[in-house]
Amino acid sequence: EREEKQLNERTQRSDETYKRAQVHLSGGVASSYQLRDPWPIYLERGSGPKVWDVDGNEMWDFHNGFGSMVQGHAHPAIGKALQERYASGTHFAAPTEDAIAVGDELARRWGLPKWRFTNSGSESTMDAIRIARGTTGRETIVKIFGSYHGHHDGVMVSIGVEYDQIGDHENLASLPYGAGIPQAVVDLTIPVPFNDAAAMERRIERLTEEGRKPACVIMEPAMMNLGVVLPEPGYLEAVRDITRRHGIILIFDEVKTGLTIAAGGATERFGITPDLVTLAKALGGGTPIGAIGGTEEAMAAVEDGSVYQVGTYNGNPLGMAATKANLLEVLTPEAYAHLDSLNERILAGCEGVIRKHNLPGYSVGVGSKGCVTFSANKIVDYETFKANQDKDLSELAWLYNMNRGIFMTPGREEEWTLSVTHDDASVDAYVQVFEAMADDLMA
Ligand code: PLP
Repeated sequence: EREEKQLNERTQRSDETYKRAQVHLSGGVASSYQLRDPWPIYLERGSGPKVWDVDGNEMWDFHNGFGSMVQGHAHPAIGKALQERYASGTHFAAPTEDAIAVGDELARRWGLPKWRFTNSGSESTMDAIRIARGTTGRETIVKIFGSYHGHHDGVMVSIGVEYDQIGDHENLASLPYGAGIPQAVVDLTIPVPFNDAAAMERRIERLTEEGRKPACVIMEPAMMNLGVVLPEPGYLEAVRDITRRHGIILIFDEVKTGLTIAAGGATERFGITPDLVTLAKALGGGTPIGAIGGTEEAMAAVEDGSVYQVGTYNGNPLGMAATKANLLEVLTPEAYAHLDSLNERILAGCEGVIRKHNLPGYSVGVGSKGCVTFSANKIVDYETFKANQDKDLSELAWLYNMNRGIFMTPGREEEWTLSVTHDDASVDAYVQVFEAMADDLMA
């Protein structure tokens, strides 16, 4: 309560802004994920690793636009690319040179030869699923229970579910996430637990017997919406093997992991190559760019025109210029080495605090991403998350951060994303706030 009161006092101008915003913005925000009780915190500007809210509070940014700003705010190389592009026209709906350069670089990083562009992660996963359906002529899809893949109907299924609605492990429930999603679409999406390849294969076999063989499995190689849940050793190898044996397209949704955990995302980091990969967020250097990459075989339906992958703003020149600068000038091999070493430092710092104060939890991360998971037991999937996460401690940690100059994602299920502009001082600030919370809890 004390922390909540303090945050409200620090963000009075956000409260005023909220009142004005509510007049013509539904709920006072542009996206429901920006909502927060009692009011959202409105930001004014960002520079490098820091952001400032409308009250003038200066904060280290660990939210980084849901992990989009791994290059830091207002990066000069991206600014230069945007200005140059702006001066010679921002949109034609015709292909440009920069799109070729981006395709070449992504092909090199992912070892996947064929690419297309979109404007968001949701569009990337929507199109990838359509490509899989068009290629296989099948309609059912398999996803991981609890994973978020964007806001289109087919994947707004079996996320944000309460513990008593999960269903049994072999038979997890297909439930719509909010109103407005047709039941017919929900029924085509079959969830399976993360980190259990045998359960996935049994479900695929049952579906096949029922004449509902799936077109694809869509999954994040590491779950990034329950804090961070890493794949257990051998899990991704087993999934790759199962999908190959059953003739099912494997889609790695790397909207969060791509560009943030290695130059070639989870595909490089874990050494498993899917048939299709989806990117967005950190790809565009702060502009709304998404991409789909694939093998020759998996992208053949796009190439022969049987599946339409289209969009007025696909490959938008402004976004492509920013993406090219981001990939070639900012997210270099040195940048990834820097992110890895910073993340090691913050993870070790947090783990030290946990041990010293005997807190129920552990620190976990990869590349630029990580979190403290408040749970006495290891979280391996959505069921174990729902059963074990200490919500009060997660909430308290969020409030402590926000009150002490650490800007975090709203919610108890998100992780930090470091940027290339973060340094030892920024991650030490995070650890110090965490330690202050641990001290207060003990007092
Ligand atoms: N896929 C994953 C793994 C995501 O985390 C998200 C967004 O959080 C999306 C897809 C959707 O991306 P967007 O919000 O750009 O539509």
